[in-house]
Amino acid sequence: MGQNEPQFLRSALLGVEPMAFVFPPLQAPILPVAGREAVFPVHRIYCIGRNYAAHAREMGHDPDREPPFFFQKAADDLATGGIIHYPAESGDVHHEIEMVAALGEGGEGIAAADALGMVFGYGVGLDMTRRDLQGEAKKLGRPWDTGKSFADAAPCSELVPISDCGHPARGAITLEVNGERRQQGDLGQMIWSVAEQISVLSRFFVLKPGDLIFTGTPAGVGPVQRGDRLIGEVEGVGRIAVEVK
Ligand code: MN
Repeated sequence: MGQNEPQFLRSALLGVEPMAFVFPPLQAPILPVAGREAVFPVHRIYCIGRNYAAHAREMGHDPDREPPFFFQKAADDLATGGIIHYPAESGDVHHEIEMVAALGEGGEGIAAADALGMVFGYGVGLDMTRRDLQGEAKKLGRPWDTGKSFADAAPCSELVPISDCGHPARGAITLEVNGERRQQGDLGQMIWSVAEQISVLSRFFVLKPGDLIFTGTPAGVGPVQRGDRLIGEVEGVGRIAVEVK
């Protein structure tokens, strides 16, 4: 870059010049990491659809015929447990308990055999869904965004580094609402493994360190109400507890 380049261009491209912001930039969303002081900075949130056969069937689809598909939530939909707020413009908000894979490296065109090497750790998440808005979008052939991305749409536990939990491929994944078991499955029932999900995603997107992947939900999704207490667990990873306000 020559000395005659405009100052604003150098700043934008290199990111090394002190910049004046018209307002303070929002802080990147973060997740705590079990046993560490350092926190995990979140870049994007990817989610796979219908990755457990029993859930695909309960949503009215044939699990055997579909290639994987993905959607995104905004990174600042993240909630780190505790209280989540019932969103506006919906009367049918559903819980979906999911294991979350957190990437510590990025890349494109990753082979499935190399994909797990990009994973920093795992967590327990909830893919909260405005099911009524999602259903309307499906019916009209419109994007899912209003159904899937909203404030507190992505509660997630602290992350457990792979040095502590390995790469869980089997183990119970469960959700209780007010002490009653609502969702139950096993990580081994995933149609597309974590490695395959990363590989396919990396064909369509430039993956970055800080990306989260919500890896799909087992059967038993259903509505939540204000005041409900949700406790989700993934064997070998951890748990998440939230109350809907
Ligand atoms: Mn989901």
